[in-house]
Amino acid sequence: MFDAQHLAARSANFRPLTPLDLLERTVEVHGTRPAVAWHDRIWDYTEFRQIIARMAHWLKAQGVGRGDVVSVMLTNRPEMLAAHFAVPALGAVLNALNTRLAGEEIAYILDHAGSRLVLCEARTAPALEGVATPVTMVCERPGDGTGLDLFEGEAPALDWFGNVASETQAIALNYTSGTTGRPKGVVCTHRGAYLNAVGNVMMLGFTSEMRYLWTLPMFHCNGWCHTWGVTAAGGLHVCLEQVDPVPIFELIGRHQVSHMCCAPVVLYMILDHGSNAPSSRVKVMTGGAAPTPTLLAGMEERGFDLVHGYGLTESYGPATLNDPGADAPGTVDERAAMLARQGYRHNTTAGIAIVDETGQEVPYDGQSEGEIVLRSNTVMAGYYRDPEATEAAFAGGFLHTGDVAVRHPDGQIEIRDRAKDVVISGGENISSIELETVLHKHPDVLLAAVVAAPHEKWGETPWAFVEPRKDSALTEADLDGFCRQHLSGFKRPRRFVFGELPKTATGKIQKFLLRETAKRMVTQ
Ligand code: ADP
Repeated sequence: MFDAQHLAARSANFRPLTPLDLLERTVEVHGTRPAVAWHDRIWDYTEFRQIIARMAHWLKAQGVGRGDVVSVMLTNRPEMLAAHFAVPALGAVLNALNTRLAGEEIAYILDHAGSRLVLCEARTAPALEGVATPVTMVCERPGDGTGLDLFEGEAPALDWFGNVASETQAIALNYTSGTTGRPKGVVCTHRGAYLNAVGNVMMLGFTSEMRYLWTLPMFHCNGWCHTWGVTAAGGLHVCLEQVDPVPIFELIGRHQVSHMCCAPVVLYMILDHGSNAPSSRVKVMTGGAAPTPTLLAGMEERGFDLVHGYGLTESYGPATLNDPGADAPGTVDERAAMLARQGYRHNTTAGIAIVDETGQEVPYDGQSEGEIVLRSNTVMAGYYRDPEATEAAFAGGFLHTGDVAVRHPDGQIEIRDRAKDVVISGGENISSIELETVLHKHPDVLLAAVVAAPHEKWGETPWAFVEPRKDSALTEADLDGFCRQHLSGFKRPRRFVFGELPKTATGKIQKFLLRETAKRMVTQ
């Protein structure tokens, strides 16, 4: 028997895993390298750490300490990034609010989270009017005197080590985006954040040479942990407050951006915009919703190398990755069809399975459907102040995702639908994603979402909500004809409704609103 008695963990060989350690190493090694770019300023890593130290010092002066929750309602700007280090440095928990939330939802989250204070900026301040939690506004620009200015002045000491007593301590409290109802507070730990950040560095090839454009909101799963991951690599964070194709292309050119991440809806915007392809290729990780092959092929032609990830707030962002590499074989369309799959597990995801109702894994045949379940060091600690929902999510020893998928013979996962988005018509399951994939092939369709509408005879029928491209003369009859060519009869959408689609701030189409609209239209 191996004698391990004297080998117990001790301070010399066991330190809590925390992204704060990643920051310190980067400051030591890359202190003079550019860390954060915002408007016409660039701060190096030493200066960025000073911003963090000033924020931590200010928070402490407000009485924030271990176990407190600090909310932020900030766009992708330096203070938002700094909060990802300053708040945990005090042993406090970061609650990043979706910048598009409305009054009632904000009040619910602040109350549920028990936030000590909220940091906001001019553009998000109106949404916080009247909340019970104390609100502080940061300045518009360094030195303009409009609010809390963390860019100038003394840099106090930042001594966080004693505040991270355990790696399982909470680092972030992220409320789900509410695609499916009341937001739930997902608790993330220092350990999980460290692991997913390091995993992202490995999987996406982050280096100190990288220049990362913040097209993904940092409030969405802490920017899929890239707030910590890009910092771990010592790369440059290029801040972007508003997602719009003009500044996106401008910043890509100005900073020679090498990486970015965003939901497919942002890619549709980029594709629809007339700008020239960037001068150097940009690696883009997309996810959060299913990208269609048409989108992926279009982006490749525009000079973007796509990588596709899948995950949830509950899995710190990415739990799978599909990165076929620039030299993947096949035509553009064949490659895009492969890339539309969600891929293999992320290197920090310990286990992923697709199971049927009895908990048995489905065969690797690309056809049998089941629910994706996860087991990983990068799965949340649980839902805040909600033991029931936590137990339900973890039933059977896995995290249940509610996503319906198949497993291909090569082990890749492909999502068919969210369980609640499947349309069940006359007893047949119809995948909304399959129909959306077909609709997106039509050259006049910018965005399409398929939902179930109640139907007397069939129970449900699929309806398509469509956002046509600018200046197109698309009609219902055109789309119906197109679907007749590409889909079997029972799957064809029964109605086409044109107009702008409702989206969450993370770019997900709010299908529950479309379902409500469809229901209303049926009963009218
Ligand atoms: P919410 O559940 O409120 O939308 P999340 O951001 O946690 O907030 O959403 C996670 C869900 O998004 C997943 O369960 C899945 O349904 C969907 N999703 C994420 N990435 C992908 C992807 N690459 N393809 C298809 N669906 C995805």
